[in-house]
Amino acid sequence: MRKHIYGPINSRRLGKSLGVDLIIPKVCPLDCIYCEARATTNLTIERKEYVDINEVLEEIDQVLSEIPMPDYITFSGAGEPTLNSGIGRVINHLKQFHSRSKVCLLTNGLLLKDKVLQQELAGLDMIIPSLDASNEEEYLKINRPVRGETLEKLVDGIAEFHRIYPGIYMALEMFIAPGINDSDESLARFEKLVEKIHPDAIQLNTLDRPGVIADLAPADDETMEKFAAALNNIVPVTFISKAR
Ligand code: SF4
Repeated sequence: MRKHIYGPINSRRLGKSLGVDLIIPKVCPLDCIYCEARATTNLTIERKEYVDINEVLEEIDQVLSEIPMPDYITFSGAGEPTLNSGIGRVINHLKQFHSRSKVCLLTNGLLLKDKVLQQELAGLDMIIPSLDASNEEEYLKINRPVRGETLEKLVDGIAEFHRIYPGIYMALEMFIAPGINDSDESLARFEKLVEKIHPDAIQLNTLDRPGVIADLAPADDETMEKFAAALNNIVPVTFISKAR
């Protein structure tokens, strides 16, 4: 029975993508209002082997011996994958034994400032960090980080990672939350942050499925178009919410 691997699923972003979940629900340094994995129960930045890496590697080998090679093997799931201190071992294993699939990481980006983690992630082909807030107030409202974490640290970490590894394709995911981060002032601040990070692309998202708080609504088309038009002047923008 599978415990850590799911799919492959047909992903609009990644083609056929096999998911790897290195975390138990629900461990994360954020408690985002839109999280599909529901409320965070262990809000932490402690890195450790939340699931047994030997077990993960065995399961990967087993599953990949039974299915056609997926386009991507993607770290994702019910928490923040970079919290698992064994993620580097898994990436190295994939590069060594399953190199026909590319490796992608979906991350909130909060730990990318960590020098040890930066080295562990060197083998990635793609990284999709999140940037949902244009100032500290929005960060507290949308992402609700563990104590001591700030938007400034997040942005610095993402930008530094991209500077160190320009060959790892970076698509920055941005979630638009009506009434919180969708004003013209927010957009102007986002433009500055995007210029600082300068990712390879932006993936614009809004609510698709119910999040953690009941009264959160999706952004309307006009707002999404406004953001896309402005940010497209800096890097290419695509939409990833299902409504589009
Ligand atoms: S970072 Fe991801 S897993 Fe963590 S709370 Fe936010 S959406 Fe959920």
